[in-house]
Amino acid sequence: MDQDVLVDKDFPLFSRPPKRSKLTAATSATTTSVTQNLEAKTPHVEKATNLDDDTSTTTTFADLGLAEWAVRTCKELSMRKPTPVQSHCIPKILAGRNVLGVAQTGSGKTAAFALPMLHRLAEYPFGIFALVVTPTRELAYQLAEQFRALGSCLNLRCAVVVGGMDMLTQKQSLTRRPHVVIATPGRIKVLLEDNPDIPPLFSNTKFLVLDEADRILDVGFEEELRVVFQYLPKNRQTLLFSATMTSELETLLELSSNKAYFYEAYEGFKTVDTLKQQYIPIPKYKKELYLYHILSKLEDFGVRSAIIFVSTCRTCHRLSLLLEELDQQAAALHSFKSQSLRLAALHRFKSGQVPVLLATDVAGRGLDIPLVDLVINYDIPRSARDYIHRVGRTARAGRGGLALSFVYPNEVVLVHEIEAVLGKQMEKFECKENDVLSNITKVSNAGCVANMNMMDDGFEEKAKERKKQKLKTLAEKGLLKKRSKKRNGDRSAK
Ligand code: AMP
Repeated sequence: MDQDVLVDKDFPLFSRPPKRSKLTAATSATTTSVTQNLEAKTPHVEKATNLDDDTSTTTTFADLGLAEWAVRTCKELSMRKPTPVQSHCIPKILAGRNVLGVAQTGSGKTAAFALPMLHRLAEYPFGIFALVVTPTRELAYQLAEQFRALGSCLNLRCAVVVGGMDMLTQKQSLTRRPHVVIATPGRIKVLLEDNPDIPPLFSNTKFLVLDEADRILDVGFEEELRVVFQYLPKNRQTLLFSATMTSELETLLELSSNKAYFYEAYEGFKTVDTLKQQYIPIPKYKKELYLYHILSKLEDFGVRSAIIFVSTCRTCHRLSLLLEELDQQAAALHSFKSQSLRLAALHRFKSGQVPVLLATDVAGRGLDIPLVDLVINYDIPRSARDYIHRVGRTARAGRGGLALSFVYPNEVVLVHEIEAVLGKQMEKFECKENDVLSNITKVSNAGCVANMNMMDDGFEEKAKERKKQKLKTLAEKGLLKKRSKKRNGDRSAK
């Protein structure tokens, strides 16, 4: 491949200088803003934070330069005034700038990029106007919902192009030239590369958005982005939005052209004050027992809905079988499920049909689920970044919430690392051990049934087959070595 096409003029992702600090180092200095850190390195980039001014409290959507129809739509959607990320970024996007916006989930980031894009689309509604790339399929559907709501009076045509769904139908939907395409990286790459009639459809695309950009810039998606960059016009605007600043984003900003605008609303690496954060020391092999104890007390705690985060698809599936056996209603969301089952699980939880969602980190980011009172870290995450994303599912928009982390004795060090990055101490969650142990027979019997069901439903074979496929794909991409190097690098940075 020609080297030129690998390098994007405005955001030259693939000509990285030597790596700088890793996330943990970059964000552990909670009192220093990333903006300040970058001031010296990137004098050509305009930067702002929510601390610079407080115009956002007085600004209206009309003041930001949005068309009247857009202002009306915001009102209809009960968006009375712009959030800080919106009041800072919307005028810059309308002015044609490339923007990197770093703001917490739930801060209104989606409308911050969708509104100005739709404003421009209304002026020139031709061809595929925008491509939005997001890391998970669920986020893609959520983004499409928001685009459709914000663009309702434009009769917006929006196509979702994600893995796990029929590719031929997606190809046909692209040939009908929707205004906005929302895609996961893998699927858009395949569609662009394998169908010669698809790339020309993007020849007039005006916007590329990388939503949850920190995750997309992870090494695994480099090849996918390379293809996207190759086929999109160079004179488009590029918008990156992320909840956390990472070394990849920092590098990107250092290399970006002087059209770039960087907005950082993230005051250090923090969780909101309305979130109560606790840990439960768990004796070895007793996690399921403690989980059952807590779930059977949800009503006493005043919890209407809870998300339980686990580290693997296997644990997610096993716990769903266990809870079923224990008559606890729960939906499970993990990547071993087909896309339609994933969406169905999310829908059952969002609509209140079941009070508990079991999930891997596929649900850790960006999903807007308004009524979550409790997040349980059944497996404590290995990084503070994942912790923040997970617990950010609760205590949203000024509401209260509780995050409970299950901690084995050898994991106490992980709690300390997270506390150091957050600048906050977790309290110990008190529960009477005798109460917990009273269910030991019931839970262990249910565990045996869950094990048998797991053998019967062929999960293990599926897991083996998937692992084989994954390794094959990584080997084909030449990423096997890179991945293990990155993992080692991450470990040494901790
Ligand atoms: P996001 O950060 O994009 O996931 O948005 C979180 C939630 O905030 C979504 O449900 C939006 O509909 C809502 N939202 C976005 N902007 C505003 C606003 N200006 N006023 C009130 N709600 C908003």
